[in-house]
Amino acid sequence: MSTVSTQLEAARAGTITAEMERVATREGVTPEMIRSEVARGRLVIPANKHHLAGSAATTPTRTWGRGAESGPDDLATGHPGATGPARLWVNQTVTQRWTEITDATHLKGEHAPKRLDPTGIGRMITTKINANIGASPVASSTHDEVEKLQWAQKYGADTLMDLSTGGDLVGCRQAIIDHATIPIGTVPIYSMILGRSIEELSYDVILEEIERQARQGVDYFTIHAGVLREHLPLIERRMTGIVSRGGSLLAKWMIHHGKQNPMYELFDEISAIMRQYDVTYSLGDGLRPGCLADASDPAQLAELSTLGELVARARDAGVQTMVEGPGHVPLDQVGTNMRLEQHVCDDAPFYVLGPLVTDVFPGYDHITSAIGATEAARHGAAMLCYVTPKEHVGLPKAQDVMAGCIAYKIAAHAGDLARGIAGAREWDDDLSRARAALNWPKQFELAFDGDTARALHDEDLEVDTDFCAMCGHDWCSMRISKEIVAFTSGKDTAFQPDRKAMPSPGVSEQGKELLAARGSLPVVEGRHACHSDVSPVASDAALVQDTARGKQPERTA
Ligand code: SF4
Repeated sequence: MSTVSTQLEAARAGTITAEMERVATREGVTPEMIRSEVARGRLVIPANKHHLAGSAATTPTRTWGRGAESGPDDLATGHPGATGPARLWVNQTVTQRWTEITDATHLKGEHAPKRLDPTGIGRMITTKINANIGASPVASSTHDEVEKLQWAQKYGADTLMDLSTGGDLVGCRQAIIDHATIPIGTVPIYSMILGRSIEELSYDVILEEIERQARQGVDYFTIHAGVLREHLPLIERRMTGIVSRGGSLLAKWMIHHGKQNPMYELFDEISAIMRQYDVTYSLGDGLRPGCLADASDPAQLAELSTLGELVARARDAGVQTMVEGPGHVPLDQVGTNMRLEQHVCDDAPFYVLGPLVTDVFPGYDHITSAIGATEAARHGAAMLCYVTPKEHVGLPKAQDVMAGCIAYKIAAHAGDLARGIAGAREWDDDLSRARAALNWPKQFELAFDGDTARALHDEDLEVDTDFCAMCGHDWCSMRISKEIVAFTSGKDTAFQPDRKAMPSPGVSEQGKELLAARGSLPVVEGRHACHSDVSPVASDAALVQDTARGKQPERTA
């Protein structure tokens, strides 16, 4: 057996791997900082050797890290125009990410696999977000799931979990891995009970499935090894019982067989397989609270204590480890939950689901949970698992994936700002300079989702001028501030618009769809039917718009 098989073991041996170098580039820190954090166990790089290699017959070209075949390629890191420490990968806009995802040099043929671009997860670097997708026995297909993967990558997901419980599980998982440049996680127990009841689950089936998925290239596994028989009586008085699929299945198995959790019993054997491929543990929170009433209760805390023990055992086995967290937590308890995990689990990266801070907004749980996630990030959560508007009510579609990702990009970035991550604020400051200068093209270039922002602007006013439709010319405080000579507001020379007033360049295809869905003015060739010609004078431009929209102009030029 090799003495060094995982990133953790390499880091402990003092070796800086190509993956650590790549993570350092994306985070704007030194490779030694990444190595020391991995060795400490406070940062993980989920990077299955098979996913790193590329799972196609032809291995894709590696363009990053030491020994890169056609690199190094650190293009497009950071927001547009970012320099120095602000070149943070997580601060890329949707347009930048989409360019990268669809880069022909990363694709070898239309359906060819890509390879993993390593990502670091830990509280000393930028906050990451995860998107969950997966076919259910009721809905979706492999094609739909690969499309969701692309939407997730486009809208900011740093990792993705395939939680499929229906359809062609093996084929769907492989297709997702083959098309993903981000780490892929799974919950292997879902596949273990395919074609059998949970009561029929055997030790052999567990280890065979772990091996199969590790060989396929899965980068991290959720293993619910922390739910013990002794914890089950603590569930009896809960309002919503066990809300983790894995946790509830294993509870049923333990009650049926009168035995300890098989994942706990087999933990060392599972670790040995994961070490071989360098699969990272995501120790599952099978007893996470499913409502505010159950938050921070004895069952959750008892499991957390067991997870702390398992973190130590996994690290002893050379396996990188992160820990999953709640769930549904009142806002005032979120910070305490983060600090508790850091203490009990020796600072293993905390990967939290939300948490939702109120239970009464089904249909809007991407918002209720993003509020909790922001607070969690502020207090050191390393990765935020998104929640979509479909949470509690149905299977997310591509649009829900987009909504969830954006909500969680907001949470993660707000957390990075609050934690003072070097370089995080420059993005905000650059956009604010463009906004104050009333430079609309620059503002939309810097916006995370500039297509949406442009479409909403153009819905009311298709001229880029020194006001927008929110307040209009006479009440535009940005314009007034810019005109006050004594103020620096809006006067940064690097952020001035080319001209004071010019026609909008038009909305994108996505923008057209958005406007159509909103029942806005008809769009012709990317512009509203009322689009004006070049209007060098701002008040003339506004006049054209008002007239075209059938309004009585309120002012004269
Ligand atoms: S019109 Fe109002 S919302 Fe629009 S740029 Fe001026 S101050 Fe901002």
